[in-house]
Amino acid sequence: NLSEKLDKALHVLKGHGQITEINVAETLKEVRRALLDADVNFKIAKDFTNKVKEKALGQNVLTTLQPGQLMVKIVKDELTGLMGGDAEGIDLSGNPSVILMSGLQGSGKTTFSGKLAGFLKNKKSKTPLLVACDVYRPAAIDQLHVVGEQIGVEVYSDRGNNDPVAIAKAGIQHAKANGHNVVIVDTAGRLAVDEEMMVEISNVHRAIRPQETLFVVDAMTGQDAVNTAKAFNDRLDFDGVVLTKLDGDTRGGAAISIKSVVHKPIKFIGTGEKMDAIDVFHPSRMADRILGMGDVVSLVERAQEQYDEEEARKLQKKIAKNQFGFDDFLSQIQQIKKMGSMKDLMGMIPGAGKMLKDVDIDDDAFKHIEAIIHSMTPEERSVPSTLNASRKKRIAKGSGTSVQEVNQLLKQFDQMSKMMKMMQGGGGRKMMQMMKG
Ligand code: GDP
Ligand code: MG
Repeated sequence: NLSEKLDKALHVLKGHGQITEINVAETLKEVRRALLDADVNFKIAKDFTNKVKEKALGQNVLTTLQPGQLMVKIVKDELTGLMGGDAEGIDLSGNPSVILMSGLQGSGKTTFSGKLAGFLKNKKSKTPLLVACDVYRPAAIDQLHVVGEQIGVEVYSDRGNNDPVAIAKAGIQHAKANGHNVVIVDTAGRLAVDEEMMVEISNVHRAIRPQETLFVVDAMTGQDAVNTAKAFNDRLDFDGVVLTKLDGDTRGGAAISIKSVVHKPIKFIGTGEKMDAIDVFHPSRMADRILGMGDVVSLVERAQEQYDEEEARKLQKKIAKNQFGFDDFLSQIQQIKKMGSMKDLMGMIPGAGKMLKDVDIDDDAFKHIEAIIHSMTPEERSVPSTLNASRKKRIAKGSGTSVQEVNQLLKQFDQMSKMMKMMQGGGGRKMMQMMKG
């Protein structure tokens, strides 16, 4: 998928301190290929890599200390910009605020109508009303009622009426009379863009003058999603895009292309069939996701901010002399704690984000480690190899942990020492490689 390919393309740069111009050109070619494979429009992919190259040369990437990191940052920033920069909200100023859904059949309008109603109810303390304007299939009305029940939101429908404009208007009247401050109008789509659908949605649009018209599109359809967006935008002038079915490893191509083609922001994404699978669209998070690299860039920035330079220099000397001991380990842990919660940090490490979905890491883990180290004698701390079975037992008892935990810490310490040595040699480059697994 796109993430893997981009990751591979950037891998060369991430791993090498010395980057040549040929190297950059090669990498950008790979990046472009990856974008094309993910259904990003050819012109956009080409413009994108040209811009990245320009920036890289402008910032003298080749002469900086860590060109790989800078390149990754440039690629990420450009991707973010391409998808709109900042997250955009929806207009909820009306009373009631009317939100109209548009899009092809099967794109996820009805599902998203429910998700949005639930989101506005729970997160924004709104009192939404859902209005069923898909008059072609009785099942569509039932579906919206089911959705409404799931999230505890009232649904307005009129099975005897087959005029979407009339139902929409009556729905808004009903909302006004019953104190709903948001009205979400679900409409009928068609399997493909056709005149009848466009006339119908335009009529509803003109009649109810919604604060927000959202175009809902299936992210899995790639280039087609972009073409459909363009066709709707030409007729409807919608305010924002909802990208559905962005679950798991759906290709991100549509997210990249749509903004540049229709010049409308992506406002929400759908990431599953359940009612809570809705997220506000954040371009920079999407860029991270596409790059599959966690938030490496901000991890590096934050680490640099917090890490005491003086401390770092002392530590490097010790590592160089093979004098890295548990006291240093302890001060490392304190540094890490300063940087933020363990979970936050882990989330920024590539690959770890996925793991964290199921596992809950708590900062208590540190407390045990600290207790164990505090139970060691100064000699044991500086020369961990002296720790034999009976000493381990003593330490476990003293720290209220188990021999197993002590062993585990020793193993971690060993790994960390190795990592430190590598960082020493490669200025962090090897660590980046390790983090990438
Ligand atoms: P509509 O015809 O535009 O109203 O589309 P529906 O809301 O009925 O959705 C069509 C199908 O897509 C249904 O089976 C939904 O469960 C599914 N669906 C909608 N949104 C998502 C999503 O974000 N992820 C996944 N995996 N499925 C979705
Ligand atoms: Mg529907």
